[in-house]
Amino acid sequence: MPTTVPPASAANRPGVRLTLRAGKEKSLRLRHPWLFAGAIARIDGEAVPGGPADLLDAGGRFLARGYYHPGSPLAARVWTWQDEPVDAAFFQRRLAAAAARRRLAGLGFVADPAPGAGTDCCRLVNAEADGLPGVTVDAYGAFLVLQLSTCGAAACLPLLLPALVETFRPRGVFGRTDAEAVAREGLEPLEGVLWGEAPPEPLLVRENGLVFAVSLAGGQKTGFFLDQRDSRRRVARTLAALAATLGRPPVLLNAFAYTGGFAVHAAAVCPGLEIVNLDSSPEALALAERNLALNPAAAAQAKLETVAGDAFVLLRRFRDANRSFDAVILDPPKFAHARAQVPGACRGYKDINLLACKLLRPGGLLATFSCSGLVAPELFQKVVFDAALDAGREARILTRLGPAADHPVLLSFPEGDYLKGLLLTVE
Ligand code: SAH
Repeated sequence: MPTTVPPASAANRPGVRLTLRAGKEKSLRLRHPWLFAGAIARIDGEAVPGGPADLLDAGGRFLARGYYHPGSPLAARVWTWQDEPVDAAFFQRRLAAAAARRRLAGLGFVADPAPGAGTDCCRLVNAEADGLPGVTVDAYGAFLVLQLSTCGAAACLPLLLPALVETFRPRGVFGRTDAEAVAREGLEPLEGVLWGEAPPEPLLVRENGLVFAVSLAGGQKTGFFLDQRDSRRRVARTLAALAATLGRPPVLLNAFAYTGGFAVHAAAVCPGLEIVNLDSSPEALALAERNLALNPAAAAQAKLETVAGDAFVLLRRFRDANRSFDAVILDPPKFAHARAQVPGACRGYKDINLLACKLLRPGGLLATFSCSGLVAPELFQKVVFDAALDAGREARILTRLGPAADHPVLLSFPEGDYLKGLLLTVE
């Protein structure tokens, strides 16, 4: 990075100039795209939530251009490190670059006539990791779901939406807002059709050659947990190998099942699989049942039991009833939303992993995940180790699991590296 950069040109100068305290520009110089309120020494101009901002070092030199929220501890996020206009052409360039990354990842997307490997849904824009903080775009077949999580991203909707349409040529763009972001930022909810046709409800998509019904309007997040695509296939393949070893169909506990992604993948390669889908959401479980039926080859011989309720309670109940499984999948929601919640999150991970170890038959498989970015992979592994130890079981990592390649991780933004998993044998 250049050590001397020209000051922001007057022509492109946005509403607010944020001058940092001396020394507080360090993380920005390392290209970390966040600025915390405590780093700001002076604010020039009128600040509105999500309004454009130039970030300057203590000497008034240009560092970055982004947006500012006066009420947020995470005060500013960076669009660009260049003194360039954040206009329609800017968003077009960012989207084109994001699309190119998906092509390298071997994934098709709506503008691509040949989607890869039986998959027609993927993440097209992964927020900070694709240089668009606050912006998530997922493709579900010919429809896009746009989720904006900051006022600054929402303020750019008039520029972003036409750029999305031009780049990906979807049939429709559907808006979703994260309730957490609405509460945090005071964001206007963005729900429903933003452009083009309304998607069918539910919409049928393909992942790894399997069919899934996704509710873009009513589902969690943008409708489907696309980040688990590779892990679903990997866990299923290992389960098929276990079935061959056992000489009979395995019994799988798919905890935090959502709409059954892991179970459908497993049933497709394990004829006669016995599945217990467990989740707190009855709506998700209903779709999980439907998703199995949508894949006749998987459904033909599978035996499905559906259990709705709190996993922390139900896993105990299973233990008390002496139930046992050949494989357990634990894919819980984010437990740690702030640093102060990390110890509590670890207790939660320990609890469910301990129970899972107790429920597993000798030589069973445990696929265990954490999507809490604040819980580092080493810490998560230690928690799982503690759980196995307390259960009196010996566990071995077969492989480490992570997000699919349409969820790239920007090296200067480790916070985006949130999803980690372990596939273990438990003896
Ligand atoms: N494995 C899923 C994704 C899981 S997302 C897939 O492959 O698609 C996390 C899921 O945990 C959500 O479906 C949510 O409804 C569920 N959940 C959240 N808290 C829960 C709890 N205490 N007990 C059981 N399920 C819970």
